[in-house]
Formats: sequence, structure tokens, C-alpha cells
Amino acid sequence: MDNVFQSALDALHKAGEKGNINPRVLKLLSRPKRVSDFAVTLKRDNGDFEVYDAYRVAYNDALGPTRDGTRFVPNLSLDEVKALGLFMTIKHAVSGVPAGGGKGGIKVDASKLSDRELESISRSFIRNLKPKGPGVDVPGADIGTGYKTQSWMLDEYEQVTGVHCPQAINDKPAAVGGTVGSAEATGLGIFYITQEAARDHEIELEGAEVVVQGFGQVGATIAGYLDEIGSKVIAVSDISGGIIDRDGLDIPELAKKVEEGALLQDLDGYEKISNDRLLELDCDLLIPAAVQNVINKKNADNIKADLVVEGANGPTTPEADKILKDKGIPVIPDVVANAGGAIVCHYERIQGITDDYWDIEEVEERLKKQITGAYSASYDVSQELDLSMRHSAWVVALRRVSKAVEMRGWV
Ligand code: NAD
Repeated sequence: MDNVFQSALDALHKAGEKGNINPRVLKLLSRPKRVSDFAVTLKRDNGDFEVYDAYRVAYNDALGPTRDGTRFVPNLSLDEVKALGLFMTIKHAVSGVPAGGGKGGIKVDASKLSDRELESISRSFIRNLKPKGPGVDVPGADIGTGYKTQSWMLDEYEQVTGVHCPQAINDKPAAVGGTVGSAEATGLGIFYITQEAARDHEIELEGAEVVVQGFGQVGATIAGYLDEIGSKVIAVSDISGGIIDRDGLDIPELAKKVEEGALLQDLDGYEKISNDRLLELDCDLLIPAAVQNVINKKNADNIKADLVVEGANGPTTPEADKILKDKGIPVIPDVVANAGGAIVCHYERIQGITDDYWDIEEVEERLKKQITGAYSASYDVSQELDLSMRHSAWVVALRRVSKAVEMRGWV
């Protein structure tokens, strides 16, 4: 399926059918509640003038204000933003976060902008979006955005409204009202989920052979946590390709080199492996933590891992999902496995509202309880209805959204 929003709707309707969800709720969820489509302008450092397409989708707010990601990428489309808005609705609902799904962005190559230009479009995004505040919609970070952009967005919001309001923007640094632990949240959440799934599928993580595709913020973090408990991370990769050592790679050493800017393919002294072959390695645990659609109908039959935990968003296509299910390989889906960042954004909001800032132990303890709760709820429904974890996670989320929609009298 080419259109990313159509694929998202396909997932919605499949899960809705399997979970016997009220068809009126599915009809309501078949389009976003509100779409903002606007222009962001930029006077370039060299004197040029640019006008960029910008979007913000408030997909559904039955469970709470719409929240999360702002993507600055050159090929952004409104359909992509709508699909991501629906995914965020599901991710928040399955994780028990009282929020709806929001997503937005600017169609721009942020890597080509100077800091002044990036600041200019971040502020312009907020001025032109005219956000109504933390009770309505809260933009967070995503690809191409981060601490810097979120600090500027928060400052712009506060300059325009004249009110200090850290809860108006998510994914900002602790210095301006963010939370500790946000950078590691997604990787740590995947670690907690992996422990649960390994127990249910009788995999001993100590000594387990692990393969991680993508050695960025998410992949390097989860590889580090598994390394710490004695798993053997035998292969990792980045966009340049992968490296393999059947005796186990030195993950802290690799993380240091990558942080210093090294590409894995350029490192001397390691056996190299392509990203394609890496996915097909015989191992206990495979964590795709790079990009979407890497496990697809072409390679799914060659996957030999005993368990797949999705770190990336959408790494497994629907066709591959079916093939893996037939092969008996369990897949822990993205909406549950990588929800740690979304959950910790919720903690960022609570801390901003209360002015009571937590220590890292409190953040981690709450994250563990909340994300393993999402896993257990999905696991129970997968047993109850004999569904894959992906379908059961969506069913858990849709039941929660459905109940709120019905009680509000929307359908
Ligand atoms: P990142 O940019 O820090 O790291 C991405 C890694 O993947 C890098 O090592 C990069 O070289 C590699 N990569 C990029 N394209 C690749 C390709 N075609 N083949 C193989 N490797 C490739 O990004 P991240 O924050 O670690 O995010 C990774 C994935 O996790 C993305 O799918 C993202 O949407 C998802 N995700 C991230 C978060 C978060 O909090 N960062 C939360 C939820 C989901």
C-alpha cells in the first residue's frame, strides 16, 4: 500500500474488526478531527526568501489534549502527518496516557539550515500555528527537531501569550522546564518491554544473542542496557552498514565512537555486514531501530530471530507481519515497545503543571510501571482473542478511545 495514511486506516479497520469496535467510532477515526495547513516563511542568511508548507494534525482528542511530534523533513506530506497523528492516538491510548494524538511539521531540510534559520522557522511555526495552549494541543519533537527547536518554540509561545507555561511544548531540555530522562526514555522503555517479552517467550536475556539495526538515540540506548545485563550484542548497524562479532561487540566503546561522529562502516578492525544481511542473522532477539518497512515480504521469510521488538516506527510491513506470524516469530509492535518517549512526555507535562520536578529514579520507576502495563494489557487481549500483539495493542487502544467517545456522546 503506497499511501501511508491509507495503510494507517487499513490497520485501524483490521484491528477494529478483530476487536469488535463500534463501527461509528471507526468511522469517526477515519479522518482527523482538525488539520492546520499553513505557511512558514524564512529570510535566508544569504538574502533568499523561502515559503515552506507546514501542518499540524489534531487527530482525536477523546482521551485528552492532542500531543506530540513536530517533524522538519524535506519530503513531509499531509498524509504522513495524518497517519502519524492516528498512530499517536493509538500509542497514547494503549500506554494509558490521557492524551489524544497530534503530529505536525514543516516540509524543510533542517540539516541545510543555520542555527539562526532553524530558530526563525521554529518560532514562525508557533506564531503561525497559533496554538491554543496545553489544554488543547502540545507540540513535541520528532525527526529534525530536538532540544534547541523545542526551547525556541516554548519561548515563542510564552512571548506571544505573556505567560510562563512549560507544559505548552514537549521534549524541551530540563533547563527550561523539561524532564530528566527524556533522551533515554524510548530506549529504556524498549528495554523494559524486552524483559517482559523475553520472559513470556522463555528467552534468557543474559547471554542472549542480540542484533540491533540503527545505532542512534534509540538503538544505541537499548543496546547499552542489554549489554549491561549480559546480553551478547552480536551485530549493530547505521545508515552506512553494519558490523558483527559473534563473541559480542563492545557496546560502550562503539557508542563513544559513534557519538564522536564515526560511521560504523569506517571503523577499522570489525567484520562488516550489510543492513540486509544483518536482519537475517540467526539470533535470539532482533531490534529494528532505524527506519520503516525494513522487514517486508521480500525478506520476512529469512528472518531467524526468536523474537522481534520494534524500536523504530513501522519497521515491519503488514505482509511481513503475516509471514512472521506464520513462522511463529513473535513481534512486539512499535506502539507498545517504543512508547517510552511519549510516556515520559506525559511526565514532562505533569512536572510543568505542578512545578514539582522529579529525580531520574522517579521517572524510571513510573516509566517501568506504565509501559509494562501497556504490554500486559496487550498480551492479555492477544491471549483472549488469539491475536498478534500488534492487533491486540490496537484493540486495547481502540477500546479505550471508543469508551471515551461513546461516553461523550460523539457517536
Ligand atoms: P537517530 O537519528 O538517532 O538514529 C537512527 C539510526 O538509524 C542511525 O544510526 C542511522 O544511521 C540509522 N539509519 C538511518 N537510516 C537507515 C537505513 N536506511 N538503514 C539502516 N540504518 C539507518 O533516530 P532515533 O531517534 O534513534 O530513531 C530511530 C527510530 O525510532 C525511528 O524510526 C524513530 O521514528 C523511532 N522512534 C524514536 C523515538 C525517540 O524517542 N527518539 C521514539 C519513538 C520512535
